[in-house]
Amino acid sequence: MEIIERVGEVRHRLAEIRRASRPIVFVPTMGAFHEGHIELMRRAKAGQDAALSGTVSPYLVVSIFVNPTQFGPGEDYRSYPRDMQGDLEKAREAGADLIFTPSVEEMYPGRHLSAIALAEADSTTVEVGKLAEGMCGSHRPGHFRGMATVVCKLFNIIQPDAAYFGEKDYQQLKIIQRMVEDLQMPVKIVPISTVREPDGLAMSSRNAYLSAEERRAAAFLHKGLKATATLFEKGERNAAALIEEAKQVIAAEPLLRLQYIELRDADTLQPLQTVKGNAVLALAAQIGKARLIDNIILRVS
Ligand code: AMP
Repeated sequence: MEIIERVGEVRHRLAEIRRASRPIVFVPTMGAFHEGHIELMRRAKAGQDAALSGTVSPYLVVSIFVNPTQFGPGEDYRSYPRDMQGDLEKAREAGADLIFTPSVEEMYPGRHLSAIALAEADSTTVEVGKLAEGMCGSHRPGHFRGMATVVCKLFNIIQPDAAYFGEKDYQQLKIIQRMVEDLQMPVKIVPISTVREPDGLAMSSRNAYLSAEERRAAAFLHKGLKATATLFEKGERNAAALIEEAKQVIAAEPLLRLQYIELRDADTLQPLQTVKGNAVLALAAQIGKARLIDNIILRVS
């Protein structure tokens, strides 16, 4: 497994891989790996989801970059968990061929960055439009612009055939799918289901912020989402009733402070009053120092 910090070096190495006609698969991350990240890597390395042609195994690139421009003022950019040594070991085990670990200066050369610099500075950014309205977009101004811009930059550097994203960050996944479609980027986006702890808590690097008591309480987020899924399976289609079901379960746990809970069309992310097609119930909650997100897809069979 190679570890490369410089953009020029990565481009050079990947040009060789492309000349050998080996498909390149890509997992962008902010590090502090857990089973969710590892699942993305394993699936990428296996190649089946992207239906990559040929018999050679794909060349797996994993980027580790805590992107300052997707953090707002007062958010956890500085304290975000970092574990480079542990990450390298886990990525190697999962079959990564190349780890790209650029510095902030390498990704934003010549720019003076404050946390939300991309919104203010004289720079080119990806404007993400309506998909970034509501849900996390309402609570993290500029977050999706920073995220989409860095993913666009990473795609330009790596030029992968396929890139893997978790459904846990559902709004992010939809924004990336739309960006790739609208900007006609030649990369296949492969969504991967949320990997959970045995009690249902979605795995997240930010779970490391939780005390034992908060960790126990955090499981109620998924319990709430599941309660709504059960009601949905019984035939309820009214959005307010579906949302209320999850809210009640979550409200029973005083350590959880719900930031939002919204029911949206699973594809367009339009707000819903009545569920007719597939929908996503998504939420964010503050627990102690951690802001956690989760969602569940309600599928009409
Ligand atoms: P992050 O390092 O948190 O930016 O996440 C990197 C990628 O891993 C993103 O595509 C996330 O959606 C995905 N991811 C994070 N947590 C999970 C999880 N529990 N299950 C599946 N994918 C995840």
